Formats: sequence, structure tokens, C-alpha cells
Amino acid sequence: MARDIIFDLIEDERERQTVGLELIASENYVSDDVMEAVGSILTNKYAEGYPQKRYYGGCEVIDEVETLAIERLKHLFNAEYVNVQPHSGSQANASVYLAVLKPGEKMMGMDLSHGGHLTHGSPVSASGLLYQTCFYQVERESGRIDYEAMRQTALKERPKLIICGASAYSRDIDYKKFREVADEIGALLMADIAHPAGLIARGILSDPLPHCHIVTSTTHKTLRGPRGGIIMMGKDFENPWGHKTPKGEIKMMSNLLNMGVFPGTQGGPLEHVIAGKAVAFEEALSDKYFDYILQVSKNAKALANAMVSHGYQIISGGTDNHLMLIDLRNKDINGKEAENCLVKAHITCNKNMVPFDDKSPFTTSGIRLGTPAITTRGLKEKDMETIADLIDEALMNKDNDTVLEAVGKKVNDLMSDRPLFKW
Ligand SMILES: *Cc1c(COP(=O)(O)O)cnc(C)c1O
Repeated sequence: MARDIIFDLIEDERERQTVGLELIASENYVSDDVMEAVGSILTNKYAEGYPQKRYYGGCEVIDEVETLAIERLKHLFNAEYVNVQPHSGSQANASVYLAVLKPGEKMMGMDLSHGGHLTHGSPVSASGLLYQTCFYQVERESGRIDYEAMRQTALKERPKLIICGASAYSRDIDYKKFREVADEIGALLMADIAHPAGLIARGILSDPLPHCHIVTSTTHKTLRGPRGGIIMMGKDFENPWGHKTPKGEIKMMSNLLNMGVFPGTQGGPLEHVIAGKAVAFEEALSDKYFDYILQVSKNAKALANAMVSHGYQIISGGTDNHLMLIDLRNKDINGKEAENCLVKAHITCNKNMVPFDDKSPFTTSGIRLGTPAITTRGLKEKDMETIADLIDEALMNKDNDTVLEAVGKKVNDLMSDRPLFKW
């Protein structure tokens, strides 16, 4: 039988990933070990439920796999409770909402156009369709979260759940301040650390776990694991609504969160992916990963500085983490045009709304750049200057295909002899 064309397409994609410069802030390259686990026969197994409490037989080995993933993740974030089953970041968030909110109750998140995520209450997401929503924003001047305005919105709107964490915000977050506001109105506080999880795990950014009731994340962005989600708590606590078991015992928040994932929003867990998560968590605990994630943040600062020296404006003026949002309004090019011309030069990034954007989400005034993937390829600070030169050359010649092709060749040269993943 002829080999399925799908495998040719996988090779085409491997080629694309290998020759190009990957600046999408949410992407990364996983190790061969992570891929081997995710591509394993564990995909064959049904294991609804949790270790030692399954609805299917034959889960002895699977239980060991999931238990290892749980223990490693607890160690990585110093968490008392974790759930490694959410299929994605969005599923993790949906599970938390189901556990802590009734339909129609109110949540407060960061405005999507100011860096927030669709699942933090956008009207096109289940979060915005099932729950009432209100939002906080960044300050126009500083580009940083306006904590006092956030507090005023919370006092006025009285959400039951406050969400901090973002997809396009380059600064550290003051979780303590968020918690003070949550306590003031008796709300629960959730941090969604999908983007900076790896920097938080290794102490490069401040730690939300001591301040937030619940923390969710993806595992595939800076954490460099397989595509998936997780839920954590620094400390388990009695649920504030007095939900009881049939025996009359008060349920802890951990029970509600586990039920929010299964059976609340998911069926059988993806145990092959959970095995890949376990491998990635062990990698993230290593010295080599620490060197990697520190380099991610150094590269982000170097790239931001190099872009500024070409006259580009960065929202908030710089970055504390792995990404930056560039406002192109002084450069006579919009986000969509920038994304398109960079792709022609084998540089991938995404167009992005900037705070107080006057263009639509399909056009946008900005682009978002991140360093997790290129740092996995081994690039260092001095390469960031080269990359800024290449980006500038492409953007300044957006309609000149000859120049864009030449920039693409330089990109291919820069990335040759660089495997997708190498310790
Ligand atoms: C990426 C992201 C998610 C969603 O993750 P998926 O795995 O794509 O569902 C959720 N929240 C934030 C803040 C994100 O950046």
C-alpha cells in the first residue's frame, strides 16, 4: 500500500519549521522524548476518572504514568494540588469556570484588545456566552495594567471570579494586588499563566501560586511540553459555597476542580499526552532548562532593544518576559501587512491588536514577537540584532518581493545547521 500522503505533508511541515524563523510567542519545539511519549501506544487506553479511581479496567500502568506527571508538576510549581488532564488551555479554563461559577454569574478578565485571552470572557467564546463579563485594561501612557481602575471596576461590577494573566502582555503581574481586590469583594482569583509558565516555574517572574486561589496554564508554550492544559492550586481550600458530598462532608476545591474537568467538560483523558507532559515537566526541572528559559528572557530583552533602535515602538517600552507587542502605527504598515510580508521572508509571527487600537482585529496595528522557539534553536543575544535587521528590512520593503525573497535566504542561512531541538 502506498504511504499515506499525510506523512509527506508532515515532512513538508518539518521543512517549513526547520528553515524558518519562528517568532510566534506561543510556539516552541519539543524534545524527541516528548514526541515519542505523545506518539506512543498509550493513545489506545481509556482511563476516565483519576488514578486509583477509574471507570475502566487495565489502568494499572496508566495510573503510574499519570501519578508521575502529577508529582513532577507539583514539584515544578510547589503546588499542593494539580490536575494534568485538561486537553488544552481553553479546556482548563472552561473546567475552572464550570467548577466555580453558575451560568449567568460574573467574571472579570483583561480586555482582549489589551492583551487578554478569548477564554477570559470574549463574547465569541463559551466564557462570554455562558457568563456575565466585565473587563480591565492597561493604562494608555504606561501600557501597564491599571490596577486602580481594575479595582474600581471590581467594586462596581462585583464579579465572582477575577482572572489575571494574558496572551500579549510583556510585563510581570502583581498577583498580590489582584488578591487584595479579590478579597475586598469576596471573589475568587484565578491566574492563567499559559504564556509565561516556564519563566514562573524557574523563578524568572513572580509566582502567582501563593496569591491566587487557582492557576491554569498550557503546557506547550514556554513550558515546552506537548499541546495541553493543567490546573493547579498552591493550597487546597474548602469551597466557599458549602457544596457537600452525599455523606454531608464539605467538598474541598480540589474535588470541584477535578469534577469540572471530568465529568464536567471532558471524557477520557489523553494519557499519551499526559505521558508527554510528565517528560516535559522532568525536563523543566533540569539545569539545562533553567539555562534555556533564562536565555529566552535575555533574548526577548535583546530583541526588544534591537527593535527600538530601529525606531519601533514597544507597548510598555520593553519586556519582562518572553514576548513583546510592537505598535506599528509610526511605520506606515499595519499588522496584517506585516504578518504577510514577514511570512514571505520565512519569518512567522502574528498580527495583534494593540491597546486602544483603531483598526479591526483582522487588520490590527501591531505584531507580537516572542523568543521561546528561536531560543530552543540555540539563538543568542547577538542573533537578536540580526533578526531585528531582517525584520526591519522586510517591513520596509513590504511590496518588494525580490527583497523579501533575499531576506528569506538570509533567514534560511541563519537557521541552517540548527536542529529543531537540541539540549
Ligand atoms: C494560549 C492561551 C490559552 C489557550 O490555550 P489553548 O491550548 O490554545 O486552548 C489560554 N489562555 C491564555 C492566556 C493563552 O495565552
